[in-house]
Amino acid sequence: MAPDARQKRRITILGSTGSIGTSTLDVVRQLGGQDRYEVLALTGNGNVDLLAAQAKDCGAKMAVTADESRYSALKEALAGSGIEAAAGRTALLEAASGEADWVMAAIVGTAGLAPTLAAARKGADIALANKECLVSAGDLFVRAVAEGGGRLIPVDSEHSAIFQALEDDQRHAVERIVLTASGGPFRTWSRAQMADVTADIARAHPNWSMGLKISIGSASMFNKALEMIEAKHLFDVRPEQIEVVVHPQSIIHSMVGYVDGSVLAQLGAPDMRTAIGYALTYPERSPLNVDRLDFAKLSRLDFEAPDEERFPALRLARTALTRGGLQGAVMNAAEEVAFHAFVGGRIGFLAMADIAEAVMDRLTHLPPAASMDDVFAADEEARRVAAGLIG
Ligand code: NDP
Repeated sequence: MAPDARQKRRITILGSTGSIGTSTLDVVRQLGGQDRYEVLALTGNGNVDLLAAQAKDCGAKMAVTADESRYSALKEALAGSGIEAAAGRTALLEAASGEADWVMAAIVGTAGLAPTLAAARKGADIALANKECLVSAGDLFVRAVAEGGGRLIPVDSEHSAIFQALEDDQRHAVERIVLTASGGPFRTWSRAQMADVTADIARAHPNWSMGLKISIGSASMFNKALEMIEAKHLFDVRPEQIEVVVHPQSIIHSMVGYVDGSVLAQLGAPDMRTAIGYALTYPERSPLNVDRLDFAKLSRLDFEAPDEERFPALRLARTALTRGGLQGAVMNAAEEVAFHAFVGGRIGFLAMADIAEAVMDRLTHLPPAASMDDVFAADEEARRVAAGLIG
């Protein structure tokens, strides 16, 4: 939906209190704030003080917490501001399906699926940070965006890079897409060393500052596994066209290889605001105050093959891609349950992949999804099986 150039662009940020959400608000501020953008709704979950402060700062019409028990706290924090406060799942879905032209989908995990879908069906352009939407619902989600009439613009730095390096009229000439991975904090560690790590150690990413789940996912490479599935649905490539290469400096954000041997890459400082800004102004580019690459100071760019023995999540992604059907939804849900168990100290770091694999193997019989109900049912079943395995 192309906005009228004379009007302010109406935007909604789902998950505004998170890492991507706060960066999005910074980008909005940098690109003109309330002179150019009308913020219809901001949403969060537990952090209602930040949500209220953000809403006041950007002049949002409405602030929604998904957590019903936080309603009075939010209402109190917004008292006298004229900003509407709302809480709960229905309020979240209503905010997502409002009149926004552009919606940032930055709720973490499967909780983001229903609201993002609601925004897509309404026809907003979807800036997609929440990769779980595509991993779980795949083509159904892509179709929902197309039927709604909005555009799907990736925000994940790797997928934004590929989106930027893809020549629209040469899609038939794409040979492969190459997702880069930093390798995370355990890139050089043995499995024995990883066995006893805590969430505090695993969350310390060498290059990027991100939310807890994606930071742990970078350490286990589950994040890259989700990104492989995300890439398949975003770019309509075959599983064997998706490569992963470890690139510890996180300067090349990903690449597209063409049939003539050319490889186009997108480079930049590791700062999500570039990808967010591109998603907001696409197909234009606008000035952003982010670090510039100084090539004279970049002493080297390293690359290495990923090790699927030490990081089995990558192998599980290939399995999910090969099996197809609802295996993406199953892997995603099982991993989410295992992630919470790891963070809660109930299982070890390596058990996350074991649990995801066991749940995937148990649920191979689920037929391909005919509707979103099938996706939600598979998600629920995978969570039940994973919880049973964790005990
Ligand atoms: P954060 O954990 O920092 O933020 C998550 C957001 O979701 C917060 O606003 C949080 O609210 C909200 N939230 C949490 N649980 C629920 C729920 N049950 N219902 C509704 N809202 C909820 O995550 P990130 O910003 O790091 O990541 C968001 C998404 O973007 C993820 O899918 C991630 O994979 C993806 N992504 C993130 C990148 C990054 O650099 N951070 C890079 C690329 C992709 P509150 O804080 O108020 O509880």
